[in-house]
Amino acid sequence: MEFSPKECVSKPPSRYNDGSLIKALDNPEDYKDESGSKVNYQIGTPATRANIIEDCIKCGYFRREKGVFYAEAKAEHVIDTIGDTVLFDITTSGQWEESLDGVRNGEKQALSVEKKLKEQCDSVTMDIIGRDLEKLSKGDSATGGEKNSESNSVGKCPKCDGDVRYGKFGAYCSQKCGFTPGKAFGKVLTRNQITDILAGKKVLLRGLRSKNGKNYDMYVRMVGVEPYEYTDKSGKKVQGFGIKYETSFPERKGKKEK
Ligand SMILES: [Zn+2]
Repeated sequence: MEFSPKECVSKPPSRYNDGSLIKALDNPEDYKDESGSKVNYQIGTPATRANIIEDCIKCGYFRREKGVFYAEAKAEHVIDTIGDTVLFDITTSGQWEESLDGVRNGEKQALSVEKKLKEQCDSVTMDIIGRDLEKLSKGDSATGGEKNSESNSVGKCPKCDGDVRYGKFGAYCSQKCGFTPGKAFGKVLTRNQITDILAGKKVLLRGLRSKNGKNYDMYVRMVGVEPYEYTDKSGKKVQGFGIKYETSFPERKGKKEK
């Protein structure tokens, strides 16, 4: 048997734009999930899809930049914490539309469809309420979230070596040394980003906004701690310690993403 080396370059799939996203939504039969298997999804109807996209942008789940879509940290966070519920199943919306169609053409009883939808919504809501969202992360969401306090630890405090935890209002040091690294360059960091940053990794922050209103992406890496001070809305002076970052920009490789 003979082998000959061959140099290949792989390219990530190109980002969705309005046209390709609508086309993908209109043609679920072409869709394969990460494992390569077909999934019979349906999201909205041809009449509602353009609005759904605009609503997602309005709600801050993704943004359109130079015509293509980028996910926002908010979307990643939502998927991390409640992405396994039926609300996020890509077949759910289609099933709901189908039962509504059933009512329209007389095949189904409106009352029983309504009852079923309500039950489904109730159980999802109860499920989400029952979760300790502060403690949930990608790593333990499969087990429903560990209930001990260590599970919301995202790393060691670079100031005092205490445990840094991730809570409703962002990350904070459990030793109350004043270290609150919740935001970077105006962006709220996700739990996963904080974890990576505290571990000393270089992390890409997407969708930062410059002073003249332009979006940009930037890599950050923790190089130390620095004090901060600002005056909050009520005029109170707030002091604390944040992360000192080393920053760099992603290399621009032409306009391949178009
Ligand atoms: Zn600390």
